[in-house]
Amino acid sequence: MPKTTAAIIVAAGRGTRAGRGMPKQWRALAGQTVVAHTLAAFHNHPDISHLVLVVHPDDLETAPWPQDTGLEIVTGAQTRRGSVLAGLEALEGRFDQVLIHDAARPCVSRDVIDGVLSALKSGPAAAPALAVVDALWQGQDGRVAGTCNREGLFRAQTPQGFDLEVILNAHRRFATDAADDVEIARTAGVTVTITPGDENNLKITRAEDFDRAAQILGRNMDIRLGNGYDVHRFGEGDHVMLCGVRVPFDRGLQGHSDADVGMHAVTDAIYGALADGDIGQHFPPSDPQWKGAASEIFLRHAVELAVTRGYRISNVDCTLVCEFPKIGPHASDMRREMARLMGLDMGQISVKATTSERLGFTGRGEGIASLATVALVSA
Ligand code: MG
Repeated sequence: MPKTTAAIIVAAGRGTRAGRGMPKQWRALAGQTVVAHTLAAFHNHPDISHLVLVVHPDDLETAPWPQDTGLEIVTGAQTRRGSVLAGLEALEGRFDQVLIHDAARPCVSRDVIDGVLSALKSGPAAAPALAVVDALWQGQDGRVAGTCNREGLFRAQTPQGFDLEVILNAHRRFATDAADDVEIARTAGVTVTITPGDENNLKITRAEDFDRAAQILGRNMDIRLGNGYDVHRFGEGDHVMLCGVRVPFDRGLQGHSDADVGMHAVTDAIYGALADGDIGQHFPPSDPQWKGAASEIFLRHAVELAVTRGYRISNVDCTLVCEFPKIGPHASDMRREMARLMGLDMGQISVKATTSERLGFTGRGEGIASLATVALVSA
């Protein structure tokens, strides 16, 4: 059986050297927080099934971590070692192996993670590092006081990967603070394999590191937009389904599925962004199994397809066009339901409505139209 893997993202640091007072992991970077980029790198990896975010007790109420993504929040300690131990104890007995990563390394690549996971197949511990290529000096009072042999020296990075039981036992036996988990593992006699690091896997420490990280993330980012449009006709009924919400009405919408015109437009927008057809191609109306189907089946399929292709959904904007029923009173329920179905925050979903001034088929009350735009960004 393949080993199960969880990741611990350590975000309990108080590091404010990077400026502006707030610990660096909560600060904005390329349209999100630093930690959101870091979490996404692990969240989108198919072999990592669970994420633990360790946060400082002072940040529990206020820190802007992403909601609704199945993230487990653990309260950290005063030291890095204590925070990692809290994360490890939360995972005890639940997984075979664990990756421990600093929240302040948001540019970690799939290759770096894969390198660690691959090495864990044949050993209990592995971590990425880069060989030192610059000459090394000792300095004193602004002058070179000596040189060091760089032979065999490495710059350590994260994620550092371990057999969960091995690193948990090592942590429990370790008494003082340590530079990293590799030091703790080695003190317990564990062999640690060096895997390829990446110059772009920088640890944000100083103010200028934000610019460099934003450039790296921006260079790698692929943004795709899609639009969707759908219409359903009114018929017999006592309610309409709109964006997953049952809205009482004296008529219903006709269609092969539950005729959720808003959800169909959003689903088609995702397929459009992926350049992968439309609902009709993925779920042919000629196929009786989709008769009366809940449209969330279609939406979930499109979202999964986007994730499989290496994208995450950045935002959704859906407009419903009708004279009635009134959408306003239900709009926030619709946003909440769509966010739940798509695994997003409500703040990423807009549902709004317009009439068409009694013009055209929507104006005459013959049906409802819907338009949607989505933005996908490479994860
Ligand atoms: Mg439709």
